Amino acid sequence: MHLNISEIFYSIQGESLYAGLPCVFIRLSGCNLRCAYCDTQYAYNGQKAMSIDEILDRVEGFSCPLVEITGGEPLLQDETPALVDALLAKGYLVLMETNGSMDISRVSKKCVRIVDIKCPGSGHVDQNDLANLDRLSPVDQLKFVLTNRTDYEFARDLIFDTWQQESLPVPAPIPVPAPILFSPVHGCLKPTDLAEWILADHLNVRLHLQMHKILWPEAGRGR
Ligand code: SF4
Repeated sequence: MHLNISEIFYSIQGESLYAGLPCVFIRLSGCNLRCAYCDTQYAYNGQKAMSIDEILDRVEGFSCPLVEITGGEPLLQDETPALVDALLAKGYLVLMETNGSMDISRVSKKCVRIVDIKCPGSGHVDQNDLANLDRLSPVDQLKFVLTNRTDYEFARDLIFDTWQQESLPVPAPIPVPAPILFSPVHGCLKPTDLAEWILADHLNVRLHLQMHKILWPEAGRGR
């Protein structure tokens, strides 16, 4: 059993509720989308084939309890669920970031599934598998990457339409099945604008900045 690997590296987790923690990243090759703001285009094409045992050996060398599988799109590869299971069996806390276009239930619920919902600015709003909203568990996280006000309104309205059948403004926090993150595209949408919009609408979401972009604004691969 082999997976196509783009890179394996050790860095600071930057895109979830685990942001700020040291983390080993396993970046898988291949993606079925081409988001307008994609910063990992180098992961589109196949790189090195590695067995699960080889990946586990490499991860072990970093002596880090937190591991994230990312891409590309991890769910494109048939062996990804087995890799998740193997990492869990070794006792790692496992995160898997997915672009939200594929069924997340193929991967163990013991893994923290960080699920994107693509907004219009990505160019792929029609490819969301919205059935994933019913597949979330409380340990999972839902993430909206936002480029502008249109994206914000799309995300806000989807949350309200899905979990609260009332019109704005809402008087109480919305009950949601998993934490929701609103993340502005670095250098595209001002975080302060997004903060003001969230406050104005009383949204029960977390404003999330891409920490690795703040720490290493010029970095490419391996960060
Ligand atoms: S899903 Fe992720 S890796 Fe794929 S094109 Fe979009 S941003 Fe890039």
